[in-house]
Amino acid sequence: MAARQLPLLPALPSPQAVDAVAEALVRGGSGVTLLREGTDLARLSRDFHDYSPVLTPLLAGRQAQLAVLAVTVEQVMAVASACAREGVPLTLRGAGTGNYGQCVPLAGGVVLDLSGLDRLRRIDPHSGVLEAEAGCRLASLDGALAPFGRALRLVPSTWRTATLGGFIAGGAGGIGSLRWGFLRDPGNLLGLEVVTVEREPRLLRLEGRQAQALNHAYGCNGILTAVTVATAAAVRWQQLVIGWNRWSAALEAAQRWPGTALELDALCLLEAPVAAALPWPQGCPPPEPGEHRLLLLAAPDALAPLAEELAERGGALRWSEPQGQSGGVPLRELCWNHTTLHWRARQPDWTYLQMLLPQPEEALIAAVSERWGERVRWHLEAVRQGGCPRLAGLPLVELASADELDGLMDFCRERGAVIFDPHALTVEEGGLGVVDADQVAAKTRHDPAGLLNPGKLRGWSER
Ligand SMILES: Cc1cc2nc3c(=O)[nH]c(=O)nc-3n(C[C@H](O)[C@H](O)[C@H](O)COP(=O)(O)OP(=O)(O)OC[C@H]3O[C@@H](n4cnc5c(N)ncnc54)[C@H](O)[C@@H]3O)c2cc1C
Repeated sequence: MAARQLPLLPALPSPQAVDAVAEALVRGGSGVTLLREGTDLARLSRDFHDYSPVLTPLLAGRQAQLAVLAVTVEQVMAVASACAREGVPLTLRGAGTGNYGQCVPLAGGVVLDLSGLDRLRRIDPHSGVLEAEAGCRLASLDGALAPFGRALRLVPSTWRTATLGGFIAGGAGGIGSLRWGFLRDPGNLLGLEVVTVEREPRLLRLEGRQAQALNHAYGCNGILTAVTVATAAAVRWQQLVIGWNRWSAALEAAQRWPGTALELDALCLLEAPVAAALPWPQGCPPPEPGEHRLLLLAAPDALAPLAEELAERGGALRWSEPQGQSGGVPLRELCWNHTTLHWRARQPDWTYLQMLLPQPEEALIAAVSERWGERVRWHLEAVRQGGCPRLAGLPLVELASADELDGLMDFCRERGAVIFDPHALTVEEGGLGVVDADQVAAKTRHDPAGLLNPGKLRGWSER
């Protein structure tokens, strides 16, 4: 069970220590931008943790004392050196779209905005392997890959704004997870360039497995300055919206299609009340009362077999447009945590959970619905876990207290679900709940004074 209180934290650094960091950066001619105003500090110390009624009060008022905007690796090294010399905590930030307060500084100090490190370094025309600086936006990388007939394998639904470094350090998967699994699956992340936090910072290149310890570590064990990832052959994905009257028939399709030879990049199933709350793309009719919706990104050659499947299973194609050519909200901004975003725009008191559902999924879904009724609404996403198609659940829940949320999570765990708790602060609780010794060892090597993102790596705090 996740701790519902702040971990033991170092004392806030003194204003003098923070001033000394700023002075060192100015005196050393680093050329970084320094922001010291309250509004800038508040803005750059926030992410999307207000999805969680548990994290919101816990993180209230937590903010950096100095924000630094870097645009080069040399500047990042200068910031790392100054923080190490003064013993000032350093929290890293990409676009700040994380959901769990990952880039909220718990112990004050410096927040380093890396979104200015936005240079593409190389795309290998033969393999499609891409290396880019950590602050590159995922959407602009896809734009650069397109002329090579390539595309990113995995993107979050925040693809338009999120950075590559933030996705690797804070994300898990998303669109594409149906084909490529999760970021931590071997073969997705190929290498990292990393700056250590020491008086004399080192610039390291970590390849293959060495890089994995920094994958999804919330920037606790090294500053990513560049990332190398494998890419996929580009496909002209078709966005499809399918309506179903019967939930069981829609769920059956969601269980079946990911295991077929239909080429799909995303499959998202929404219970009727959730579907009714979403903004639909231009030209897509809103759902009829009681209509459940299944959203697909499908390859053009999947359309004919899908039409046969629909005829057999009673689903109705409501709308179809190629990705990138439709008006209004694109389908990829209706799925994953964008579903939560749209739902909460109407129901701000609701929150959500994240889990891998046990198979077959019906039993857990029915048990939860029987116990919590309309206070839990289902949103499912198809993923590949360990090479096998599975359904992940991101249910929307009208449960406000930590006890109620824990009760629902325990209920699901007891029935075989794997929970990724979005109401927890640490890397471990947001993941599989266990300490990863490699992540802690990497922190020892790259951040020996424990200055990076204090409080977020439980294995370090408890060592
Ligand atoms: C509406 C919505 C939908 C979302 N959908 C998805 C989804 O589909 N899949 C998914 O995985 N996530 C999703 N997220 C979470 C988040 O958007 C993604 O994980 C995103 O990739 C984070 O990128 P960012 O640049 O905003 O990172 P930030 O939020 O800025 O940072 C995330 C973490 O990475 C660390 N970090 C940032 N840059 C670096 C760096 N260069 N070096 C080391 N550490 C660094 C930060 O300290 C922080 O701990 C969603 C969030 C929202 C609000």
